[in-house]
Amino acid sequence: MNAPTFPELHLSEQALRSLDRAGYEHPTPIQAQAIPPALAGKDLVGVAATGTGKTAAFLLPIVERLAARPSRGSPRALVLAPTRELAVQIAEQLHRFGDSRGVRGAVVIGGVGMSPQTQALRDHEVVVATPGRLVDHLAHGTARLDRIEVLVLDEADRMLDMGFKPQLTRILARLPRARQTLLFSATVGDEVAEFASSHLRDPVRIEVTRSGTTAARAVQQVFLADQREKMPVLLALLAADDLSTLVFTRTKRRADKVARVLERAGHKVARIHADRSQAQRRMALEGFRNGFYRVLVATDIAARGIDVADIGHVVNFDMPHVPEDYVHRVGRTARMAASGRASSFASPEELDLLRGIERLTRAAIPRGEVPRESPEFRAELERAAAAEANPGAGARPAGMNRNRRRAAAHHARRGAAETPASAGSKPATPRHVGSWGPKRHKPSRSGPR
Ligand code: AMP
Repeated sequence: MNAPTFPELHLSEQALRSLDRAGYEHPTPIQAQAIPPALAGKDLVGVAATGTGKTAAFLLPIVERLAARPSRGSPRALVLAPTRELAVQIAEQLHRFGDSRGVRGAVVIGGVGMSPQTQALRDHEVVVATPGRLVDHLAHGTARLDRIEVLVLDEADRMLDMGFKPQLTRILARLPRARQTLLFSATVGDEVAEFASSHLRDPVRIEVTRSGTTAARAVQQVFLADQREKMPVLLALLAADDLSTLVFTRTKRRADKVARVLERAGHKVARIHADRSQAQRRMALEGFRNGFYRVLVATDIAARGIDVADIGHVVNFDMPHVPEDYVHRVGRTARMAASGRASSFASPEELDLLRGIERLTRAAIPRGEVPRESPEFRAELERAAAAEANPGAGARPAGMNRNRRRAAAHHARRGAAETPASAGSKPATPRHVGSWGPKRHKPSRSGPR
């Protein structure tokens, strides 16, 4: 059977024009399967990870519905997403399809002021929100949800994993019963299935990757390395190609540490985790997206749903504790038509986690050979050993001091684009973006910083 075209999905002329402007030529499988039932008003469970085109699969039908019967006053569609980044990305896609049709999105997320959101909640047609902040608005009486016609739960598995169930329940209690509900999830475990059966009506189920499958095109490898070897392996892998690389670590502190070592080795690296301000996260993401940073180091929660086309290489510096996270993470690479690499580092104490992943994905991850002969591997192992043997003097403290000085000089040159929020009494976030802007298209992948 031939894949359908966008016109065959019964989208309006205006929608087809906006797709044309966005440069989308053919529907992705989730779009081909989800758009017709969504347009017909059916409830839907879509099993699809980030990178499959699921956002347009739910936004296009929403825009079609709202634009067909315009009415202002309070929002008519609500999209819930687990992280701020994902909410912002959904709203960006909504601009593409909604702007020309008079359908606007209010972004309701934490970390920024509530009052501009209050205004947007009054007169925008779609609300794109993280559950926590929307509940705050409900508590303040600044959000009305009684005219919601369509609810989207995006990355439902992650919202439940993150403990948002109480917030979701409170939000759902405020929605009209007669509504359409579209639920998207990369994996469907018991909790998601139970949630879907209590809140959706006779949903159509669509699955573009089987629950538990990993991105089919990603070349996966696992390196059995002890903790001391992880950093050297990472440096050796980075030296072996110039792919854009997303590195996941277990904790915020480890993310900071990995980023520091990579920076010292001359890599352009940004970080995303919960202790970074909204502005810092946004700049890290933008810089990674446009190639200014080659490496983005992130904790899983913060990086969830990141929409960056063409991530070449995903590295699990630490094995994910929840096997489903492996599927999510590997889904960041091999998106759309691109192929990618996924490398995971498993220390002896993480072997059980590795087995859990292999059980879930029903496939053994090929073992990679630890590149112990690579110069980068050896140099880093030696540097770390020297620093450990002699912490009071020599390599490490001097290196770190020099590094801090270099980082400070670098920040000054870049107009303090990455100045930590704690140091910033500077109020003007937009100015940071502006001062950082001119360097956006000058990817300098090596060289001194
Ligand atoms: P998503 O899975 O919704 O996060 O989408 C992943 C990326 O694919 C986004 O950057 C979209 O802009 C892009 N995309 C979605 N649908 C299409 C399509 N039909 N053709 C080309 N690119 C698309």
